[in-house]
Amino acid sequence: MPVKMTKLEERAIKLLMKYEGKGILQSELWHKLGVTSREGSRIGIKLEKKGVVKRVREFANDRWTRRLVPLIKQIDVQVLNGVPCPSCIYDGVCGPNGEKYYASCPLIEEWVLKHAECKENENDSRE
Ligand code: SF4
Repeated sequence: MPVKMTKLEERAIKLLMKYEGKGILQSELWHKLGVTSREGSRIGIKLEKKGVVKRVREFANDRWTRRLVPLIKQIDVQVLNGVPCPSCIYDGVCGPNGEKYYASCPLIEEWVLKHAECKENENDSRE
């Protein structure tokens, strides 16, 4: 179920996603958002209650504060480019609640292999 957020919370999340993994000190985030520490603390608490961030106690800049670590991850929808299912004639019946054509689907296999090949070529060109 999607989580309802205010505009300010959405801005905070967008900023936080840039620090995926290690998070950011809450004071730095409030500074970037241009809000007071009081407003910022409220946002942090709300985001934690919504399960979007983890507030980790940390000693930084000579005082105890909180680090906000995102619990959500950005996903790369580019991966889904070219997936055959939306234009497949079996799309209406194939799936977890219908016939399980996807378990042995040659179109899916072809798409996965093509995608894996592209990834391999990308990795080779980086080396
Ligand atoms: S898994 Fe295969 S058969 Fe099923 S909808 Fe996708 S392309 Fe069609």
